[in-house]
Amino acid sequence: MEIPLLVTDFLSRAAALYPEKVAIIDGEQRLTYAEFERRSKRLAQALVHAGVEKGDRVCILSPNSHFFLESFYGVSQIGAVLVPLNYRLVAGDHEYIINHAGVKVLLVDQDYVEMIDAIREALGSVTTWVVAQEDQEAPAGWVNWERWIAGAPDRALPDPGLRETDLVSINYTSGTTARPKGVMLSHRNCYLNAYNLTVHLGVCHDDVALWTLPMFHCNGWGGVYALTGLGATHVVLRSVDAQAIFGLIEGHGVTFACMAPTVLNTILEYSGRDRHTITTRPRFVVAGAPPPAAFIERLEKELGWDFIEIYGLTETSPLLTVTPVDHLTRREDYGRRSRAGIPVTGVALKVCDEQGIPVSQDDRAIGEVCARSNVIFEGYWKQPQATAEALRDGWFHTGDLATWDASGSINIVDRKKDVIISGGENISSPELEAVLYEHPSVLECAVIGVPDARWGETPKALVVRRQGGEASEAELITFCRERLAHFKCPTSVAFLEALPRTATGKLQKFKLREQYWESQSKRVN
Ligand code: AMP
Repeated sequence: MEIPLLVTDFLSRAAALYPEKVAIIDGEQRLTYAEFERRSKRLAQALVHAGVEKGDRVCILSPNSHFFLESFYGVSQIGAVLVPLNYRLVAGDHEYIINHAGVKVLLVDQDYVEMIDAIREALGSVTTWVVAQEDQEAPAGWVNWERWIAGAPDRALPDPGLRETDLVSINYTSGTTARPKGVMLSHRNCYLNAYNLTVHLGVCHDDVALWTLPMFHCNGWGGVYALTGLGATHVVLRSVDAQAIFGLIEGHGVTFACMAPTVLNTILEYSGRDRHTITTRPRFVVAGAPPPAAFIERLEKELGWDFIEIYGLTETSPLLTVTPVDHLTRREDYGRRSRAGIPVTGVALKVCDEQGIPVSQDDRAIGEVCARSNVIFEGYWKQPQATAEALRDGWFHTGDLATWDASGSINIVDRKKDVIISGGENISSPELEAVLYEHPSVLECAVIGVPDARWGETPKALVVRRQGGEASEAELITFCRERLAHFKCPTSVAFLEALPRTATGKLQKFKLREQYWESQSKRVN
């Protein structure tokens, strides 16, 4: 008999084994595993009462909260599909996604009610509007979450007869020029990703995990499931703030967190008194952009915390590779540790050319990263053509360009569409950015290609300086030229207050390019 891999098992296990253990710390609130399970079940009962059936879509728009964690389990135990929305998107994006996914029930944090009300008329498929707030009067047209779940009949839930290929969530990818695409993730995808998180990042029962990563982003990289399954404690952070992060790490003895590189920047820049009083040695898992080696070194030396790099995409649930400190990699080898790394269990990778043939494993030849695994998504929701383009010949094509070495370790050099071609040579913007990060004045930077009469394209650096950092354009160009082949170096530098990023900290280089073109057209006019 086949027993399906279902993510709902994670909460059932923890609630059976550790009913009294604190599962969630959210501000002043503490929920035990028994309460976490009970509240998720009440949510499931309320959804059934509202007419939600297996396969129906339920949307949540919320910052990190205990409601959000409950929604993952409440929705999937009746076989419905969660659509977590990115709260940094504008109302028009939400309208597009909610309609594209055909959402039946909307679960919305109170801070976002006004935004949704503005597009309410256009959301024809929605039948139930629930506001995530403690027990209080809901705004007109909404029902309060607590009262809604309290009012649902306490009946046995229907058995949805789940198979492991049934969907858990549809996660809309953000941040590109095109409309967001709905990535369909199944129970099997999410289950195996959670398993890999546990195995490769050493998640355990004693972990106290800080949620700096938004839960909407690829289901918090799997922490929703892995941490829950092991009975670890979730510490919820609603919005990123350095002082709050240090306070929570110290106050709750945080041992583990997944975060975007930009959050680590915030941490490194923080100079509060409590910075050096932390007694745990947290493990920080970072993904989303290639981290410069200088950045890892600073993090470990200045804070004494451990850093682990992983690489993946929403389409891959997301974990594909990891850079463990192991017999291949010494702790002090920051260069190697900043690589995307080696495949996790159950993932086959190749770096290949346009014909799908693997490029040489010499760490020089560049190709596209392709993956084959049970963590690869089920396709894009209602977009068969985009699905067929991404899933070809049994391999998922990531759109990331990389080199790989003889050990199979991947080094991401760029997104396919971000690579700079100057005088016929490919220039990897992350390589150049990594050098700029070594300069003490540089807090953040991004390199884009801009037109050049002689070379076709030339690199331009956009830099945010650290507090008190005074490096000039000429100084930064010289700094790069002393460390890199000259053709790779920026020929101009502009200083900005901040870089445009998605909610998960991913640089939006297309916005930088747009800003560049706007400034050029102003010049012409
Ligand atoms: P998302 O689907 O929003 O998680 O974005 C996935 C993309 O983020 C990948 O295709 C990569 O371009 C980038 N990415 C994620 N992790 C890393 C990493 N460790 N190094 C370099 N790029 C990364």
